[in-house]
Amino acid sequence: MLRLPDPIRNRVPRPIQARIDLAAMRHNLEAARRRAAGRRVWAVIKANAYGHGVERAVRGFHGADGIALIDFEEARRVREAGWSGPLMLLEGFFEPRDLHTCRELQLSVVVHNEAQLLMLEAAPPGPPIRVYIKANTGMNRLGFDPHEVGRVHARLASLPGVRIDGMSMHFANSDRGDPNEGPVSISEQLARFDEACRGIEAPRCISNSAALFLHPPLAEAWVRPGIALYGATPDAAHSATGLGLRAVMTLATELIAVRAVAPGEAVGYGSRFVARRPTRIGVVACGYADGYPRHAPDGTPVAVGGVVVPMAGRVSMDMITVDLTGTPEATVGTPVELWGAQVPIDEVARLSGTVGYELMCALAPRVPVVAVN
Ligand SMILES: *Cc1c(COP(=O)(O)O)cnc(C)c1O
Repeated sequence: MLRLPDPIRNRVPRPIQARIDLAAMRHNLEAARRRAAGRRVWAVIKANAYGHGVERAVRGFHGADGIALIDFEEARRVREAGWSGPLMLLEGFFEPRDLHTCRELQLSVVVHNEAQLLMLEAAPPGPPIRVYIKANTGMNRLGFDPHEVGRVHARLASLPGVRIDGMSMHFANSDRGDPNEGPVSISEQLARFDEACRGIEAPRCISNSAALFLHPPLAEAWVRPGIALYGATPDAAHSATGLGLRAVMTLATELIAVRAVAPGEAVGYGSRFVARRPTRIGVVACGYADGYPRHAPDGTPVAVGGVVVPMAGRVSMDMITVDLTGTPEATVGTPVELWGAQVPIDEVARLSGTVGYELMCALAPRVPVVAVN
């Protein structure tokens, strides 16, 4: 009952695989584009495209207006994968020699602190470096405080080696339904941004997935969705499918053992699950060393042969165990989906006290990844 594609299966020591659905990537980008209603879309692919792979993201999001990420090495991979459009570094550069790479790879950089300003002022002459000026409007991570932004803009505008492409900021609470709910509400951050940008004519770039999908359009030229493009929700109160999104990553494996457990018998470490009736337990080839969350409680949904059954027993390093009562025909080799179209990653994340973002990014290097569609 091998259901995985043979060439892949032949290379894999155990039956686990993450499938990246490029058609779902294209679908989600289109959904973002519709929400953006004329605003241009940076596809955010930091952290190895939220665990999906930079090269696969370049293929799936080739219809984006720009690609945004954090890491110079990943930026190089994006260029090598053939992307010649706008490419932005969301944290900008870190040391003077990075500016050479910015020119070589034609990167746009976010400038958010004084140290970067000094490096730009000291940069050797060369083709202009494109910058976005970042304002801190309440997140208090990166960015110039609103009263500094005018001066920063003037300093950068005076540099022949710099071209100012826009102004940016980042929301702390765009997943809140009420834009006026404080502290650090959406409307408060927008007011601070308006104040920071007063007198500056430059395109604005503000919205992440939550701002884009959960709120009316903002006055900005560019949006920067990440998580929504991978088919997960930016906010636990909304399902990804309800937002018109399709799961991109499927974490798939198989049953590697099935056993009958008598009432009163326990399963796994800590004997967390105790059978109340005669129970068929399925052993699934996936554990926390594959990136599955160890905190997943009993009852977490797992799809076995297309039937959603509950986890039964603690997640271990290489295996999880499930209660097969609902699917008597399941046997060794039956395909299992840990997350994907049948089991929303957001649901596994919620039950484990985290978010889909973290699960995607934590997909372990030992899991083979393949692109489909
Ligand atoms: C990660 C990131 C985004 C995308 O956020 P999502 O919640 O994944 O849509 C946008 N802007 C910045 C600055 C980011 O770091």
